[in-house]
Amino acid sequence: MRILLTNDDGINAPGLYVLEKIAAQLSDDIWICAPSEEQSGAGHSLTLTRPVRMRQHAERRFSVSGTPTDSVTMALKKILPAPPDLILSGVNRGANMGDDVTYSGTVSAAFEGALAGIRAVALSQVYAREGVGNAVDFSAAEAWGAKVLKPLLDMPFAPRTLINVNFPPVAAGEVKGVRVARQGFHDYARGSVVEGTDPRGFPYYWFGLHGIEHTAGSNTDLEAIAGGYVSVTPLQIDLTHEGSLDQLTDLYRA
Ligand code: MN
Repeated sequence: MRILLTNDDGINAPGLYVLEKIAAQLSDDIWICAPSEEQSGAGHSLTLTRPVRMRQHAERRFSVSGTPTDSVTMALKKILPAPPDLILSGVNRGANMGDDVTYSGTVSAAFEGALAGIRAVALSQVYAREGVGNAVDFSAAEAWGAKVLKPLLDMPFAPRTLINVNFPPVAAGEVKGVRVARQGFHDYARGSVVEGTDPRGFPYYWFGLHGIEHTAGSNTDLEAIAGGYVSVTPLQIDLTHEGSLDQLTDLYRA
């Protein structure tokens, strides 16, 4: 089984080394292609206005001067000798739950795999708010990663879907188990905009992520993580809101 690893935290991110350890428990045919720099928040963006450069670090380890989507594209079209059986994206430094998934480069890299018809899983390690700015403990992801992935290897994924996995911010031994849960939502829009003055006296603005409030809805990824469980959420690329189709159709009926 050939596995492609990627992420949005960059080729040197600690979470990518954790993902390598997880993948090594599943196969010895592992390929890596990840952004050369951190691309958190890049979403599903594709670099169109400038060229990207690729660098080979080892026989099966590459970085790309672009987004997570660029990395998957390069891997599938230029690097791998044949398509992989599985794409794993992560392990992200921080949660990708609820509305996060629309901003997430980690999840979007998996989306890119799903669009190419390849089974894809995004993995993220949630950390406690006190952990902001500090090294993140990936021990829950490391201990539970292969355990969560193995049952998925025998399951045919529905077309144009992916699996989004989050690991709770607890020590490996304190993880309560695995919960299949739906995508939740945050109560408020994205966090703060910090305003400052640069050395030349001009204002700058910096988007922050801290303190996003949420109410853990029933059977959501947010609720599962709050309870100390690994969350497993199936996501689909089709964003159509089925419930509004009839209403809109009526609206435009002449
Ligand atoms: Mn990230």
